[in-house]
Amino acid sequence: MRPLIEAQQQVLDTVPALPAQPTPLADCLGLVLAEDVIAPHNIPPFDNSAMDGYAVRAVDVQSTPATLVVLEDVPAGSVPTRSVGAGQAIKIMTGAPLPAGADSVIRVEDTEPGADTVTVVTGATVGTSVRRAGGDIAAGSTVAGAGTRLGANHLGVLASIGAATPVVCRRPIVAVLSTGDELVPYETPNLRPGQIRGTNGLVLVNVLTELGATVIDLGIVGDNADDLRSALGRGAAEADVIVSSGGVSMGEYDLVKAVLTELGGVDFWQVAMQPGKPFAFGIIEGTPLFGLPGNPVSVFVAFEQFVRPAVLHMMGARRPFRPRITGVLDEAVDTSPEKTVFVRVAVTWVGDTAHARPSGGQDSNVLSALASADALAVIPVGIDTVPAGSKVSLEMFRYPENRGLSD
Ligand code: AMP
Ligand code: MG
Repeated sequence: MRPLIEAQQQVLDTVPALPAQPTPLADCLGLVLAEDVIAPHNIPPFDNSAMDGYAVRAVDVQSTPATLVVLEDVPAGSVPTRSVGAGQAIKIMTGAPLPAGADSVIRVEDTEPGADTVTVVTGATVGTSVRRAGGDIAAGSTVAGAGTRLGANHLGVLASIGAATPVVCRRPIVAVLSTGDELVPYETPNLRPGQIRGTNGLVLVNVLTELGATVIDLGIVGDNADDLRSALGRGAAEADVIVSSGGVSMGEYDLVKAVLTELGGVDFWQVAMQPGKPFAFGIIEGTPLFGLPGNPVSVFVAFEQFVRPAVLHMMGARRPFRPRITGVLDEAVDTSPEKTVFVRVAVTWVGDTAHARPSGGQDSNVLSALASADALAVIPVGIDTVPAGSKVSLEMFRYPENRGLSD
């Protein structure tokens, strides 16, 4: 059996990087910058007011109350036409440019209006309620470095400096297929004896979509060599990655194995992990293929450990693995010392501490326990039982919204 980390390393070393291209910001969520983005100008671009109020010279409001002549009114989006001299003020709205001569802004709450004057009740020092040009982002600075995976707020920052088409690694195209003669489409209302509804395809399509991939759903392929060859051929021609489920274990009807062997370039791995031990990986017709096991829980765990990091790596992410946090295991679990075991756990928070307990049966066919899990508790090689109360490493794949107004 291959140690998990070595198998993961080999996968990351094998998959190719996706090409980078300028991409409209609106299509960039979840994609990774291939180049640093440098600010061409300051943000804010000009000194401006942080408050609705009056632009003044601080020296004029050292003793209060102080009555100043109001020269004009500058809403946001307008520019002042006058400069502020001794004994003068300009009415200004949040975000409007600070007039020449002024060095501070008095909040409207700290003033009393007159006819053409304003009386300042509370004074200010130089810089009060002024946002300086470049105070957020200085011209020439790096606003986001190559390797940054863009979230909504990164998009906002890039938009602010006019970086409307940043250079990002292209969105990956991933083909998904499910194999097995027992499988019928999940829309099938009545099952005949021996049939089950295929679930792996739907789960894979959705986790890949969530990851930022464009998915080609190749559907269910029966245990038939010709159909399998043509589905794999289509995947290799149209996608950057192929993910299949089923047919890679020991069964004699596992045609996937035979067809992959005949196509060449694919190895069958026994990874020291549970679930998800049997696994095929390689390159067919230039396209990486992940041949995941058939059992639904094995599919998800193998996806998490291999496919997700590989796709993120292809997308340019520098650190493609999920973060692990430390939590407390509330219920003892027995594991296998020769493998890294991923226990599907539900997480509850006690204060800020994550408490985990198995979310149901731990057999690799028990999809219902996975559905109510939030994390994989990672039990390393060499351990056969983990007592209740132990600290465990939790790979969170979901942070449940569990806080109401009263919490
Ligand atoms: P296999 O690896 O093909 O022998 O499949 C192992 C187990 O997973 C069998 O019980 C299959 O019926 C089940 N399985 C395979 N593919 C799927 C699928 N797409 N959805 C749900 N269960 C599946
Ligand atoms: Mg099968």
